[in-house]
Amino acid sequence: MAMSQRPCSRISCADPAVATLTYVYADSMAVLGPLSDTPEPHCYDLCRRHADRTSAPQGWQIIRHRVFSERPTHNNPGFTGESRVTRPG
Ligand SMILES: [Zn+2]
Repeated sequence: MAMSQRPCSRISCADPAVATLTYVYADSMAVLGPLSDTPEPHCYDLCRRHADRTSAPQGWQIIRHRVFSERPTHNNPGFTGESRVTRPG
């Protein structure tokens, strides 16, 4: 269990971060993946809501890891009641 939960990096958002957005400048790619253990440069921690809504800048592509819809996290009561399910393929 991670004790050092970080907040969302968006201004005026106090939700806990659940994902890390990494900008890969060399490839013009934004990668949205699981929350990283250690904060890194060019990485932004996002809460679930902001991770859902984030989009890549113009001319960039965004890669979303399927970290949110794989399975519900039962030890995270705030996120139960998930109704939006994306299925692979
Ligand atoms: Zn947020």
